[in-house]
Amino acid sequence: MEARTDVAVVGAGSTGASVLYHLAEAATDCLLIDQGEQIASGQTSRSTALVRTHYTVETVARMALLSYNFFRCFEKNLPGRSAGYVETGLLIGVDSKSEKAVKDNMVMLRGLGAITDLVDMEEARRLEPFLDPSPFAALVFEPHAGYAEPSATASAFVSAAKEHGAKTMMGARVIKITRSGNGYRLDTAAGGVVARKVVLATGPWSKPIFASLGIGLPMKAVRHPVAIYRRPPEYPGTRPVIFDLVNAGYYKPEGRQSLIVGSLELELDISGTEVDPDGYRTDITSEEMTKLSGWVMGALPVMASKGVYERGYAGVYDNTPDEQPVIDELSDYGFENLFCLVGLSGHGFKLAPEFGRIMAALVNEGAFKDYDVSPFRLRRFTEGKLLKSRYEFGTIG
Ligand SMILES: Cc1cc2nc3c(=O)[nH]c(=O)nc-3n(C[C@H](O)[C@H](O)[C@H](O)COP(=O)(O)OP(=O)(O)OC[C@H]3O[C@@H](n4cnc5c(N)ncnc54)[C@H](O)[C@@H]3O)c2cc1C
Repeated sequence: MEARTDVAVVGAGSTGASVLYHLAEAATDCLLIDQGEQIASGQTSRSTALVRTHYTVETVARMALLSYNFFRCFEKNLPGRSAGYVETGLLIGVDSKSEKAVKDNMVMLRGLGAITDLVDMEEARRLEPFLDPSPFAALVFEPHAGYAEPSATASAFVSAAKEHGAKTMMGARVIKITRSGNGYRLDTAAGGVVARKVVLATGPWSKPIFASLGIGLPMKAVRHPVAIYRRPPEYPGTRPVIFDLVNAGYYKPEGRQSLIVGSLELELDISGTEVDPDGYRTDITSEEMTKLSGWVMGALPVMASKGVYERGYAGVYDNTPDEQPVIDELSDYGFENLFCLVGLSGHGFKLAPEFGRIMAALVNEGAFKDYDVSPFRLRRFTEGKLLKSRYEFGTIG
């Protein structure tokens, strides 16, 4: 028996879940398909799930701000559900090379309505007494930034979508997509699905699907290692997240005592070898651990004397050449009504609410009219119209 739906959304991570919710909320008949048995079994569950508005590409900053507003009102937007949002504040420290860029960027962000300000050393020390701010030429603070619980967020979107009539099909790897009548047929491990429209939100698994359609997706799946430490008792609880753009590290105090450390650096991410998201090294190497430990011990000296390394793991980023997502309908490639939201390049969780709103409009109305999302088209890579960050750190582009 074939399942039939108006819109098939492939991928039950934060992206597909939000797309499903926004479609269902607009009374669209939709079905979520995933190869996993559970919602968020892909990279979403491995995410450190930081939420902030600090971006340098204006449209991405706008998306981040709108998404952030959604996270702050998540319980109101999706009654009875929570994204587990914890407001921590975010301190970003830059060296003298990036000082002008960060100041120019502040003007842009504030113009969009983001709440963010430059802080001096004294204020930075007041905000986080354990931070050594001396290597930074300038510091920016974003008071309402924080982190969410990524799997809970995706599950909340899906359960709210189900209340609006959406359906799910799990354990259903999509093996083949072919044209069928005025829509598509998806052959999955759990049976066939016929849909008028399809949205691909397939994260690092996207390349082979695009290849099977004859479309080259310039995306590289690369490992992203993180290290988890225990903070000493004097450095407990909810504290500001720190982006150390001198060392290229991010330090995320989580829960009561954890501290998660990862890299904002291209070297660890981009130049890494392409990996198979179903078969890569999921632990952290001792070299990676040493590098991340060195950064955090320098920035937060209390971690050098009293912090304890607990464990590490590696997720996968779906990096594009400009480290920005591809948001498109693939009609240029001969596939009208086949949409994609892929290549999120390690920073797609925080954008999930706005991604869903954008994609629902593209699918239902044929256009998203609030602002121009055409710069995110797939063709930009062959047209040489890559999006440009003010900084050299792609994930905060
Ligand atoms: C370690 C780490 C830390 C991160 N930190 C942050 C952060 O702090 N802030 C932030 O904003 N972002 C962060 N990210 C990035 C963010 O988590 C991702 O961009 C986001 O969660 C991507 O969600 P997604 O739904 O696009 O992909 P995924 O969650 O990977 O979901 C894709 C889904 O598609 C399914 N799928 C794929 N192919 C098929 C197929 N053929 N058939 C059926 N199903 C299929 C997969 O099973 C999977 O469930 C981080 C990522 C990692 C790995």
